[in-house]
Amino acid sequence: MTWPMTLEDRKIRLLLSLRRAGITNTAVLDAIAEVPREQFVPSDLACRAYEDCPLPIGHGQTISQPQVVAYMTQALVLNDRLRVLEIGTGSGYQAAVLARLCRHVYTVERLRSLLVEARRRFTELGVSHAISTRLGDGNTGWAEEAPFDRIIVTAGALGTEPPPALIDQLAVGGLLIIPLGSDRWEQRLVRFQRCETGFKREESWPVRFVPLLPGLPSDPD
Ligand code: SAH
Repeated sequence: MTWPMTLEDRKIRLLLSLRRAGITNTAVLDAIAEVPREQFVPSDLACRAYEDCPLPIGHGQTISQPQVVAYMTQALVLNDRLRVLEIGTGSGYQAAVLARLCRHVYTVERLRSLLVEARRRFTELGVSHAISTRLGDGNTGWAEEAPFDRIIVTAGALGTEPPPALIDQLAVGGLLIIPLGSDRWEQRLVRFQRCETGFKREESWPVRFVPLLPGLPSDPD
């Protein structure tokens, strides 16, 4: 007979698999270890919180796969002086991971009910002082708080370039990571670094994010 695995066992197994997949930054691994992913998924899916896969969070949206969260977070090269803009709050999980690694997170979501839930989680976990939230169209960024040292888009954008407003709101020397693709459901992670004279572009993994949609829904719930 084997004992059922506890959530803690599953988390340890996940962290080992993240290491094997090339997540070597210990601060990123510690942040993943410290943020309780089970609190960011519907309660009937809590037992699956440490599987390395995306999970549904309602409204046709998903919490990203832990490996993708870890990879994007590592690619942002964070430290506690940096201000980070996230587009696509969703469950709030990625924002909670970021908040452990930077000075402040600004996160934008277009669906009110997801944002309300995410804010509740930030309060419960005692991280709301480090995360500002906004209901809005992330394609336009957050002009009042720009420039940002880092920008992370957690929904897939159509085309080969990030939304122009996000490019404008990235500080010189800053990094922006975004899933870009010609197909609505398949993208590749692309990282841009803003230099004095332009942008350096690096392409990476194929990924599958829910789409970055244009504008706000007529009823944002
Ligand atoms: N980062 C999230 C997962 C994001 S799923 C997490 O950790 O759980 C993608 C999210 O992007 C969804 O919640 C979706 O509603 C949101 N989204 C899609 N288009 C958007 C837009 N134009 N502006 C803001 N949010 C958007």
